[in-house]
Amino acid sequence: MVAGAKVIRRRHIVTSALAMPFVARAQSSGRVVVIGGGFGGATAARFLHRYDPALTVTLLEPNRGYTACPFSNLVIAGGREMEAQQFDHHIAVVQDAAAAIDPAARTVRTAGGATMPYDRLILAPGIDFVWNGLPGYDEAAAAVFPHAWKAGEQTIRLRRQLEAMHDGGIVVMSVPPNPYRCPPGPYERASLIAWYLKARKPRSKIIVFDSKDTFSKQKLFQSAWKKFYPAHLEFVPLSEGGKVTRVDASAKIFETEFGVHHADVGTVVPPQRAGAIAIQAGVADRSGWCPIDPATFESRLVPAIHVIGDAAIAGAMPKSAFAANAQGKVCAAAVAALLRGEKPDDPRLINTCYSLVAPDFGISVAGVYRPVNGVLADIDGAGGTSPLDAPPSFREQEARYAERWFQTITEETFG
Ligand code: FAD
Repeated sequence: MVAGAKVIRRRHIVTSALAMPFVARAQSSGRVVVIGGGFGGATAARFLHRYDPALTVTLLEPNRGYTACPFSNLVIAGGREMEAQQFDHHIAVVQDAAAAIDPAARTVRTAGGATMPYDRLILAPGIDFVWNGLPGYDEAAAAVFPHAWKAGEQTIRLRRQLEAMHDGGIVVMSVPPNPYRCPPGPYERASLIAWYLKARKPRSKIIVFDSKDTFSKQKLFQSAWKKFYPAHLEFVPLSEGGKVTRVDASAKIFETEFGVHHADVGTVVPPQRAGAIAIQAGVADRSGWCPIDPATFESRLVPAIHVIGDAAIAGAMPKSAFAANAQGKVCAAAVAALLRGEKPDDPRLINTCYSLVAPDFGISVAGVYRPVNGVLADIDGAGGTSPLDAPPSFREQEARYAERWFQTITEETFG
């Protein structure tokens, strides 16, 4: 793609599902249980109410409120406070976890002991980590080398470790193969840690070991790294020995095929799969992720269960908050239509992922998707990345759009 040729005007994207043709006609009285109050589930629950007020919608989420990952890399780098990541749900939430789903009886049993019948179930549990998928990286190791890939205590832990590190210390990061939550997220984290080191610990650097050779917005990231962080960020791709084969948190080392690297501070993006409840329900395949029908997000494996957000295999759509929100709307419209015995519409969905290379330097990639031959595919000619040769004012503007995008999407999802 010629950089800049397909940039779409993100200012005009205030909603993430282009197809919202559903107009409430006859109302149904179905029961819908939504599992997970994150970007996908909270959006689906809200839009179900909006599309068909007669539906009985139950949103199950064990946590009080929600802590958002987008912008959490800036919290790690000291450029933002954790409070800005925290949101209350302004709709009714049953504060409980789904413990088991019985697809034959169409019921959900909760950890608190309740049994909830459903006509349609929407699963949006996000991700879980495959502990020891990277040998040596288990829950105990995550206390030493934080993943910070679910925002919260881990985010603060990594920030504190960076603050406590001496000037001259080495930060090491491990990036897994695809697929994982937020494809550009590791590179944004590396950039913002380099930004912090350059300003506060100028004799330090971050080394990024990657299990891949190519990644999202690569040219944009790498040209910015060359310009801003030549002494503070070292990138080692797969073909140059970047695959981390083992970590030993107690010895504070990362092992690659070519050597052993000591880390004063380490962060590991672990291998991932769909949240555990999806595995229990039987909607995940051998990959650990959930195949779905791209028009309705209904599981390919278990009828009447829909899967949205990071847990789903959504074709060309990345695992992002923007995508989860778009899928929540499309899925809510489809579920409301199906419960009335109507045919769901053929949807269009959009996604934009902003990344910060520095707090005032933003880059983005956008895409538009539709179902083609049973999968969500890119619509050719729609979307694109920020131009490679943009002036600083353009990057500054994109950083501001990123902040406004976050305000818009969190308002729409959490109210
Ligand atoms: P989640 O948001 O994780 O929500 C899942 C919810 O389900 C959780 O609240 C969980 O408690 C709940 N749950 C799990 N199991 C159960 C159960 N058994 N019963 C009840 N509830 C359950 N995306 C962007 O679009 N833009 C960005 O700039 C961006 N930056 C990111 C930066 C980082 C560092 C990271 C890690 C991610 C970033 N993302 C970004 C990705 C984004 O955070 C995820 O894609 C998004 O949160 C996915 O939404 P979800 O609803 O699928 O899952």
